[in-house]
Amino acid sequence: MSCEEPHETDCSEVLDHLYEFLDREMPEGDCTKFESHFEECSPCLEKYGLEQAVKKLVKRCCGHDDVPSDLRSKVMGRIDLIRSGQAVPDGDVTAGPGTETPVRAEAPGVE
Ligand SMILES: [Zn+2]
Repeated sequence: MSCEEPHETDCSEVLDHLYEFLDREMPEGDCTKFESHFEECSPCLEKYGLEQAVKKLVKRCCGHDDVPSDLRSKVMGRIDLIRSGQAVPDGDVTAGPGTETPVRAEAPGVE
């Protein structure tokens, strides 16, 4: 998957890293790398309503703070939608109180 925007890094790679980012602890110093990585694909993240969430996550990482589980599951759910090619709801993933959290479907081959 990729968008029309030309980037050095493919959008799907950015999503892969976001997945990793959520799944495991990032080594110290990787935050900056991630930040620039996500900056590059900012228009796409915005399109998917993930930009604000990513910014929060990057900030959390650099602040050595835990990612709130609700934000984590929201972002995970949305990434799953994007990766499976389903329609992504409008609006930012962080917006709106108590919106339904998509259940994370374990697709085979997806790590
Ligand atoms: Zn992109």
